[in-house]
Amino acid sequence: MLIDSHCHPDRLDLSAYGGSLDALLQDARDTGLVALLAVGIDLDSSQEMIRLAQRHAGIFASVGVHPLQPGPIALPEEEQLLALGRQPGVVAIGETGLDSHYDRANIEWQRESFRRHARVARQLRKPLVVHTRDARAETIALLRQEADPEVGGVLHCFTEDWATARAGLDLGFYVSFSGIVTFRNAEALREVAARVPLDRLLVETDAPWLAPVPHRGKTNRPQYVAAVARCVAGLHGLGEAEFNARMVANFSRLFQVAVELP
Ligand SMILES: [Zn+2]
Repeated sequence: MLIDSHCHPDRLDLSAYGGSLDALLQDARDTGLVALLAVGIDLDSSQEMIRLAQRHAGIFASVGVHPLQPGPIALPEEEQLLALGRQPGVVAIGETGLDSHYDRANIEWQRESFRRHARVARQLRKPLVVHTRDARAETIALLRQEADPEVGGVLHCFTEDWATARAGLDLGFYVSFSGIVTFRNAEALREVAARVPLDRLLVETDAPWLAPVPHRGKTNRPQYVAAVARCVAGLHGLGEAEFNARMVANFSRLFQVAVELP
C-alpha cells in the first residue's frame, strides 16, 4: 500500500514498458502503489497531468510551472493557473518554488512565478507543492507572506536543514522526502527526516529523477517509492505496513482525497 506523493509521469522512461505509460502504471499498481501525485512542470504538462488524473483512479494532478526551465519562458498568468487549478482531478498547485543552485539568472522570474502560484493556491484553497534548493530563507519568507497556513502544502524533495523543516511545519506544510534520503552521504538529512512528526511526513520519488538506493543511477519510477518508505519507516522505528498506512492517511488529509485501497 504505497503512495508516491510527487512524480512526473510525462517525463518517465517507458522503454522497459514498450513505450506504454499504462503498462508502467499497471506494473506500479501490481507492486502495491495505490496513488500518486502527477505533477505538472509547465502549462502543457499540467494539462497532460489533468487528463491522466481524469483517466485513472488513484492518480491526482498538481498544476504549475517549475522554477527551473530549459530556457526563458513567459510568467504564468494567475488566470491560467486558476483555470487549470479548477479542473476536476486537480488537488494541488505547483510545483513552484525557488532554486538558486544552478544559477540565479532567472531568480526574479522564479520569485514572481512562486508568488502567483501561492496566491492561486490560497484562492482555490488547494495545497501548494514547493520546490526549494539553496534558497531556504527566501522560500520561507515568501510562504510567510503568501501562503495560507490553513491550506498549507508540501515542501517536496526536502534537502534542507531542521530549522527550515520546522519553519515549514509552522506554516502548515508537510515535508516530503525523496530517494536522496537513502543516499549513503545523507546522514544529516536522515536526522531531519527522523524529527519530522509522523503526521506531517510524506515520501515520493520525484521520478524520473533521483532514483533511491538500491536503484541509484537507474531511471526512477513511482514504484521505487518503496525504497524511500522503507528508509524513512526505519528512521521512525516503524514497520513498513504501519508507516505506509500513515502515508496514505497524510496524503488523503493534505490533498483532501479518498484513496481507494485494494
Ligand atoms: Zn518535481
